[in-house]
Amino acid sequence: MIEAAISQEEAEVLRYVKEFAQKEVKPLAREIDIKKEVPQKLIQRMKELGLFASYIPKEYGGAGLSFSFLVRVIEELSRACPSTALVLDGALTLFADPLIMFGSEELKRRYLTKVAEGAVGGLALTEPNAGSDAAAITTSAVRKGNGFVLNGNKIFISNGRIAKFFVVDAVTDPSKGHRGISTFVVDADTPGFRISRDIQKLGIRGSSTVELEFHDVFVPEENIVGEINKGFKVVMDTLDSGRIGIAAQALGIAQGALEEAVDYVKQRKQFGQRIADFQGIQFMLADMSTKLEAARILTYKAAEIWDKHEDAVRISSQAKLFASDVAMQITTDCLQLFGGYGYTTDLDAERHMRDAKITQIYEGTNQIQRVIIARDLLKQ
Ligand SMILES: Cc1cc2nc3c(=O)[nH]c(=O)nc-3n(C[C@H](O)[C@H](O)[C@H](O)COP(=O)(O)OP(=O)(O)OC[C@H]3O[C@@H](n4cnc5c(N)ncnc54)[C@H](O)[C@@H]3O)c2cc1C
Repeated sequence: MIEAAISQEEAEVLRYVKEFAQKEVKPLAREIDIKKEVPQKLIQRMKELGLFASYIPKEYGGAGLSFSFLVRVIEELSRACPSTALVLDGALTLFADPLIMFGSEELKRRYLTKVAEGAVGGLALTEPNAGSDAAAITTSAVRKGNGFVLNGNKIFISNGRIAKFFVVDAVTDPSKGHRGISTFVVDADTPGFRISRDIQKLGIRGSSTVELEFHDVFVPEENIVGEINKGFKVVMDTLDSGRIGIAAQALGIAQGALEEAVDYVKQRKQFGQRIADFQGIQFMLADMSTKLEAARILTYKAAEIWDKHEDAVRISSQAKLFASDVAMQITTDCLQLFGGYGYTTDLDAERHMRDAKITQIYEGTNQIQRVIIARDLLKQ
């Protein structure tokens, strides 16, 4: 039933992705965490396998595969290494998706074709004083000649060091609140654009997270995504699909952690028997597996709704909220199953728990997901 949402061709490609993730990505996951970098050779391999092109429409050099397929790819990559998955997820859901939805023909030709070839992008929305309250951003975009001059700071920007371009939100009319925000595409080599700091983190350490500065960065008018002063909708719609991507990331992290814990309880002996034979352990496994399956069905359903271009606001928040909470519970319980060994860095259980935590925070914290879900429910 769950597989029905993807085509035969997509299911076939997914098999290769699973093999790539387990054989080539998973063995590097620990090193990626320690070295705090996804190796270029893995990004190159994702490019060769056509993963960047997969979700880009055919007219722009892509394969035009579905969002449901992309969600499964993110899940499989995250099962092996969520930092690696985030490179692709950021490029496709955070950078490409707003262009697919709102970009002019020229912007699509200029940038989507590059993403299809493997160029990484990112989204720069969050600022030091504007996180959950994204409409409070103050980065300014002031008209000059045939374009705009951007000034301000952005924080926590994923894919920071590896992205060639970013979707950036800035204020074009300060008197209008969120109706005065516009969304731009900014090339990372534009004069005045600067990475001011690499941010050190609890988990997904292989993912580059940076602080950005804009000093008189000139952006031509044609780089506006959608219409001037209508950029807040662009970014909010972008986050709808983005949240389903984060739900998929949570699923993958939890699945990877659970598989390792199941293997361990079958071989660890205490009191003269396998710990898997204790009913207390079996009940933990049963609960984890059930919650994970429920999260998966919800996430796939959200992706299916997105593919049908139906209203996905509530379900994308529900998927992200539920899957990320489940991932945090599962990775914490899996660590418990390894006992003292789980608490050490000799095993991967602690990394899975560290990696899971971010899924409750980014693309809107889980408190904000509850705000969105309740608001949508009450408006009807
Ligand atoms: C590793 C990482 C990667 C990220 N990547 C990106 C990226 O690529 N691009 C980007 O633009 N941003 C990115 N972010 C930013 C991320 O989306 C924000 O951190 C997040 O939305 C929360 O904002 P904040 O950190 O400012 O927290 P705050 O908004 O200051 O929230 C603090 C606390 O208050 C709670 N809170 C706030 N408002 C409410 C409310 N109305 N009701 C109840 N509770 C509330 C929050 O849930 C939270 O617990 C990333 C963050 C991290 C850590």
